[in-house]
Amino acid sequence: MEKRKYQVCTNCVMDTTDSLIQFDEKGVCDHCRNFYNNIKPNWHPDEIGKAQLDTIVNKIKKDGQNKKYDCIIGLSGGVDSSYLLYYAKEVLGLRPLVFAADTGWTLNVAIENIEKIVKGLNLDLFTEIIDWNEMKDLQLAYFKAQVPYQDTPQDHAIFASLYNYAAKNKIKYVLTGANYSTECVREPNEWVYLNDLRQIKDIHRKFGTRPLKTIPLCGMFKYRLFYRYVKGMKIVQPLNLIPYKKEEAIALLGEKFGWEKYANKHFESVFTRFYEGYWLVKKFGYDKRRAHFSSLVLTGQLTREDALKKLAEPPYDEALALQDLEYVAKKLGLTKQEFIDMMNGENKTYRDYKSNSWMMEKVIKLAILVGFEKRQFR
Ligand SMILES: [Zn+2]
Repeated sequence: MEKRKYQVCTNCVMDTTDSLIQFDEKGVCDHCRNFYNNIKPNWHPDEIGKAQLDTIVNKIKKDGQNKKYDCIIGLSGGVDSSYLLYYAKEVLGLRPLVFAADTGWTLNVAIENIEKIVKGLNLDLFTEIIDWNEMKDLQLAYFKAQVPYQDTPQDHAIFASLYNYAAKNKIKYVLTGANYSTECVREPNEWVYLNDLRQIKDIHRKFGTRPLKTIPLCGMFKYRLFYRYVKGMKIVQPLNLIPYKKEEAIALLGEKFGWEKYANKHFESVFTRFYEGYWLVKKFGYDKRRAHFSSLVLTGQLTREDALKKLAEPPYDEALALQDLEYVAKKLGLTKQEFIDMMNGENKTYRDYKSNSWMMEKVIKLAILVGFEKRQFR
């Protein structure tokens, strides 16, 4: 690929580390254009959204009348899902079952947050324990595959375990903390590739050492088609229908539950901290904070100037990074040197392995067309 001249958007903080970014004559990027043209006009965190939410909530309550739970919410301990849980129970009066997945990496602060919120709201928590040997094998396979997106094995297992559990237990409504407020700029596919089961299986076939027998898996077609149209599962994103501001949510959660924030949006585990702050940045030059800060800039929660200042700081402390490197290597059964050698290996992309990317792009285009997805995927 031809090397582009470095450029950063004049309106948000996305830059040419997204190799497909397009700038107009004013230097404004296509993430911004997508926000102003497609997201903002269709996003109603006001009376319109509230009326839509009320209709959905009445339906959830009616459908769940004689059931122990009327919906399910996956809780990571992070701000979006924690706030969603509080809002669903206390403001909307729903009766959610709280679902958590333990992939073997969770930070103490995340576990404490989960416990504080669940206890504070007096809700039931179901925790699915993912088989560590399989998780480890899949994660090692991903590292050996030299792709950027090392959170895929965990993310997939968490996502699949929640949806498989909901389908199996006939819980029709899955409430998610997905929201434009903190996520309207999606990371490009080259940074964080889609949830593609074909690729997971291909990478594991090439680099894995043991069969994946129990780890929860769920392909896009099972999720987008079978679960929705055959099982009648409904995915609801309440945070898009209400005014949702990250700092206000953090303050409220702290005050009500003693909830503590993490250093960065997704630093809910040592693994995520290491992968986002070190592997992705050092090996590939991708800084996920750019997409997150850009979302906050576009939604008026952070100034561009402050975002640039924060980006000038390293994502996390170098000494802690090296300590985390040793910890991650050891936990995956590698020596520090073996891990460093792997980091120095040839970088690969999602195009180097089998994928359903063309098919999934079509499914996402269709989702955008019918209005279910408004963020830009590429
Ligand atoms: Zn921009």
